[in-house]
Amino acid sequence: MFEDLKQTIQSQFDFSPNKNQMRDIERLLFEIIRRDDIALNALIADLKSKTPLDKYYGRNKFFAIKEALIKRRFPLTAAHQKIDTKKVFSSKLRKPIADNWQIHKPFKPLKIFVEKEVRECELLDNFKRKFPAVDIEELNYYSDYLKTNKFSISQLKKPLVFIVKEKWDFIKPCPCTKNHVCCGYWILNLGFGCSFDCSYCFLQHYTNFPGLLLPGNIEDFFEQFDAFYRKLKKPIRIGTGEFCDSLALDNITGYSKKLIPYFEGKHVLFELKTKSTNIANLVDISPPSNIVISWSLNPSNIAEKEELGAASLEERLLAAKKVQDKGYRIAFHFDPIIHFEGWEKEYKELIDKLYSHLKPPFAWISLGTLRSNRELKNIVESRFTQSSIFYGELLLGEDKKLRYPEFIRRKIYESMVKYIKQHDQKTPIYLCMENKKMWGVLGENLDSTPQIEKYLLNL
Ligand code: SF4
Repeated sequence: MFEDLKQTIQSQFDFSPNKNQMRDIERLLFEIIRRDDIALNALIADLKSKTPLDKYYGRNKFFAIKEALIKRRFPLTAAHQKIDTKKVFSSKLRKPIADNWQIHKPFKPLKIFVEKEVRECELLDNFKRKFPAVDIEELNYYSDYLKTNKFSISQLKKPLVFIVKEKWDFIKPCPCTKNHVCCGYWILNLGFGCSFDCSYCFLQHYTNFPGLLLPGNIEDFFEQFDAFYRKLKKPIRIGTGEFCDSLALDNITGYSKKLIPYFEGKHVLFELKTKSTNIANLVDISPPSNIVISWSLNPSNIAEKEELGAASLEERLLAAKKVQDKGYRIAFHFDPIIHFEGWEKEYKELIDKLYSHLKPPFAWISLGTLRSNRELKNIVESRFTQSSIFYGELLLGEDKKLRYPEFIRRKIYESMVKYIKQHDQKTPIYLCMENKKMWGVLGENLDSTPQIEKYLLNL
């Protein structure tokens, strides 16, 4: 991006940065320019006018430039606290990838791969019926695909489907994150990958595989869950929406038609979490009281720009209304909440809109601000050139994840809770991946997993 940046720095600041110093300066300049829409020359002139750089030499000049850039890059945080430079993540700038696969609606596979052990499964029949012209290839094991097709990040959303026999990862506790309060959620691992493409999706960093992995042996999940359930001493919340969208492909997989009757009457709350309008199978089933259908919500401007392929906000709310009218319990996730200029007004309007469409109380509402592994930022930067959410005030937190600093997160949670409570005093609200102190904003005296489980299960 900056062809002769080093020369510009040398001539403007009378200072010759080394390779690492150059990386930091380039990164900070790039992010300020992207976010503030300012020209490089104007930014440098502004910097020089505000910072007396002439009195510094050598390394000290670099530190003074860097400090001035950090202040400009994180204006709110710098005005609130001294920024620890170790918490500023300055990775090397990479070029955007050119051959990115784009998401198309409705989903159509380019090719279907099936592991030999599940070649007779109902899921493959469903795909054959819906896509009779699409090629199918048998593999011994899905990862054989990688022997002849090297994975690169540009292959991420290639519309390939791998129907597999899942053998290990059936049920697991949600990993949450280090030093944060866990809500006790469990994951039923029904597939990996998603036909939507959200810029902030953590799966981009966790996967080394293109396309979607879908289990053809869902009956084995039920057998595994039976064994798990026999040992369970208390009710739990469990759902499938962690490594995929629970309903995005339900019109093809038909998983919900098996999952809902299977979980009916068990002492668990089973959640299907989605950003889709794929509810046709649900409205055909009489709703059991322990099934929760939930939607993740963001204001329209964020949904349109950052949640590619997903249903619009209006569509999600209309789908939720149909499901609620049918008699299902519904829930909502404001996650990730993005901090941007005007965020408070947009999120307040979003909450008002939610309550103008749907009747409370809901099974729960979760709140979580944008957070991610460091590596994800580089991936997003190369795949989503239109996105600037990672140029918000994100610093490295205790768990080494990029997060907004505590005072911004607190302000967001306090406002969200206030706006929700203006409409609804009954729905339990919880935080996702937050520390004990932050849970205090809920005013519910919740700081341990058993307390939170009780609160959310309404025991
Ligand atoms: S809907 Fe969920 S799983 Fe799918 S891309 Fe978006 S964040 Fe990822």
